[in-house]
Amino acid sequence: MPRRVLTLNAGSSSIKFALYQAADGDRPSGAAALVCGQVEGLGASPRLTAENGGGETLAERAFAPAQMADHGAAMDAILQLLNERVPGASVDAVGHRIVHGGPRFAEPVVLDSAVMAELEALSPLAPLHQPHNLAGVRAAQRGFPAAVQVGCFDTAFHRHHAWVEDTYALPRAFYDKGVRRYGFHGLSYEYVSQQMARVAPAVAAGRMIVAHLGNGASLCAIQDGRSVASTMGFTALDGLPMGTRCGQLDPGVVLYLLQTGRMTADELQDLLYHDCGLKGLSGVSQDLRDLEASGDPAAGAAIDYFVHRIRREIGALAAALGGLDGLVFSAGIGEHSVRVRAAVCAGLEWLGLSLAPDRNAAGAELISAEGSKVAVFVVGTDEEQMIARHTLRVAQAAPRPEAARQD
Ligand code: ADP
Repeated sequence: MPRRVLTLNAGSSSIKFALYQAADGDRPSGAAALVCGQVEGLGASPRLTAENGGGETLAERAFAPAQMADHGAAMDAILQLLNERVPGASVDAVGHRIVHGGPRFAEPVVLDSAVMAELEALSPLAPLHQPHNLAGVRAAQRGFPAAVQVGCFDTAFHRHHAWVEDTYALPRAFYDKGVRRYGFHGLSYEYVSQQMARVAPAVAAGRMIVAHLGNGASLCAIQDGRSVASTMGFTALDGLPMGTRCGQLDPGVVLYLLQTGRMTADELQDLLYHDCGLKGLSGVSQDLRDLEASGDPAAGAAIDYFVHRIRREIGALAAALGGLDGLVFSAGIGEHSVRVRAAVCAGLEWLGLSLAPDRNAAGAELISAEGSKVAVFVVGTDEEQMIARHTLRVAQAAPRPEAARQD
């Protein structure tokens, strides 16, 4: 029976990790974090930081680039830290955040060699994330050979969309080859949706829009706990403008830049992922806190654009749901920016939504006014916790991994 789960979220230059202890009775929903932390700056100036479940610092270490050259070396450092700080900590299962599960994976899954081969084949769909996620899996397989490795997908929560939400109006053959609207941030939406079932069960059983507003940003329409529509599509570029990503864009712009020879495909990729959104519009920063603090009119204009696009997409998703019972703000901006929440809601009175400014300013859980037809909430997200819950559940039913059976 798995007791300890390590969650890993491997990006291009970072690995976030958290070690969870299953609660009494091995309830998959009851896991407490013992340690969490991250390796950042892989390839440049690597740093390992970690804290315990109470928020106390356990480690802050800097490494020379040659000491920690890749994900494997980072995993060795994480392993060493866990051995030092949680003596006798055996890791029974490792849960990985994997950005893309393609059309097939609608649930978390044990990462055996056949599944890994399928996920490798999906790398062209998410070239900036999937290869790093899978490098994290291989490093964890070496570091924890006896642990069950479980993949949890950002796309899985959206896999039950109706065809009209899942497709583009391209010739049908493209859909069959996997050119679809996948949607992302699924682990965050699943977590928030489960939290809402506790916070406001009637709203969670009805029609909600959850706004995941972080560096990456999207909205999800959820009906009775199931994703119905997402602003994100084939890649995590679509929908809302983000910290550095453009959001929805006429494909004609891409054609124009390619055809006039102004940009190569690689330069375009770099532009659309890294230099657009709040950063590109403001010329000041990708970080909303910097924009809120800045006196530069371009910073204010970037926030106005962000807010306007959120309101437009809320209108579109409310139409997809046929009405709205609840709006939930989550992730860094959604949880903390009083200004963005107020500005978004200020344009939504036509939905029957009325904000309580004092509750919003206080960061209360319920921030709508008495009598508002749409209840508005602020709910923190926790993707790691969601991965831990899934991993405990999947690992309980899984056979021991190939590597462990050989010894
Ligand atoms: P990620 O997508 O990288 O997980 P987060 O969910 O941490 O990102 O969100 C990061 C965003 O949240 C940044 O734009 C940051 O400025 C914003 N943010 C965090 N705290 C605050 C705050 N107190 N007020 C306004 N914005 C905030």
